[in-house]
Amino acid sequence: MKAVRIHEHGGTEQLRLEEIPEPKPGHGEVLVRLKACALNYRDIQGRLGRRGPRKLKIPLPHILGGDGAGIVAQLGEGVAALKPGDAVLLTHVVGCGYCSWCLAGSDQCCPAKGTLGNELPGTYAQYIKVPRANVIPKPADLTFGEASSFALALITCWPMMITRGRLRAGEEVLVHAAGSGIGSMAIQIAKSFGARVITTAGVEAKLQRALDLGADEVINYRQKKFVEEVLQLTNGRGVDMVVDPVGGQTFVESIDVLAQRGRIVTCASGSLAGDNLTFGLSKAREKNADLIFSSLGSKGELLEALELVKQKRIKPVIHQVLSLDDVADAHRMLEERRQFGKIVLSIP
Ligand SMILES: [Zn+2]
Repeated sequence: MKAVRIHEHGGTEQLRLEEIPEPKPGHGEVLVRLKACALNYRDIQGRLGRRGPRKLKIPLPHILGGDGAGIVAQLGEGVAALKPGDAVLLTHVVGCGYCSWCLAGSDQCCPAKGTLGNELPGTYAQYIKVPRANVIPKPADLTFGEASSFALALITCWPMMITRGRLRAGEEVLVHAAGSGIGSMAIQIAKSFGARVITTAGVEAKLQRALDLGADEVINYRQKKFVEEVLQLTNGRGVDMVVDPVGGQTFVESIDVLAQRGRIVTCASGSLAGDNLTFGLSKAREKNADLIFSSLGSKGELLEALELVKQKRIKPVIHQVLSLDDVADAHRMLEERRQFGKIVLSIP
C-alpha cells in the first residue's frame, strides 16, 4: 500500500510517500481502506517529535495522522455489526480495554493508551487496522473528505466546552483562533448551544469566514487588544467561557475577560504559544473562575456530539482538499496557519 512515513523527526522533507505492506487485522480489529485523512496540529508535533517541552515517544519509521475516513476492507475474527464495504470514520484513541478508566468508558484517561498517528500507525495511508470500537459509521450525506475532518476536533471540544465546561444557552463565549480546527469547531458548538460568540483571528479573510460560520462578533487581534475589545463588547461584564487553543500570554490575558464564575477551557494545542505561564492566582480567584485543562473526550462523548453533525448543526469546515502526494505542502500550510478550518488529503 501507499503510505506517508517519517524515518526521522524533522522538517517536511522527512515526509516520504512509500510502498509498504498492508496491515493484517487481528482478533477484534477492522482493516479500513482510507479514502481521506485530515491534518491536525499534532501531526506537525509528531513530525517534529515534540509537543511543547515534552519529547514524544513515536516508533520510527512512522505513519502520522489521527483523523480518517474510508471503507471497511476486511474484518478480523470476532468483529460484529460491521461488514466489508461499510463507509466509516475513525476515532483515534486506543485504550488497553481492561483498566478502571477503560472499563468506565474513559479510555482517553487510560495510562496505557495509544493514539493513531502517535504511538500507533496513523491515517496517512491507504490502509489502517484499528479495534472495532474505533470505527464509527459515516453519516451518509458527508463526503469521505468531510467525514475525515472533524472527529479529533469534536472529541477535543465537546468535553472541554460541554461535559466539563457546562456551556449553557444565553452565555457569552470568547473563542480564540477562529481559523484553527478547534476554533472553527468551538464556534459552531457554542452557537448550536445558543451562546453569543466573540472570536479572534489575525487576518481579515478569516474574520469573515468566522462570521459566515455564525460568530456574532470578531476581533482582529493583530490590530486591537482583545481584552479591551471583549470588555467593550460585553459592556464590561466579560464572558462566561474562553476557549483557548493557543496558550501562553493569550491564556493569561484571558483571565481579564472572564465574567464572575467564568471558565477558561484549554486543550492539547493550548501549549502552542507557551506551556509555562505566570499569572496571579488571586485574579482568577476573585472571579470565582474555573480553569479547565482538558485533553480529549471519550468515545461515548464523540458519539453524543456526532448527533449534532448528523443534524447539520455542526458542519465540517474544510479549507482545502489536497492529494496524499501533497502532504508536505499541507504541513507547511498548517504550520504557517494559512488555513481556515481543516486541511484534508484525499487518498488514491
Ligand atoms: Zn485502559
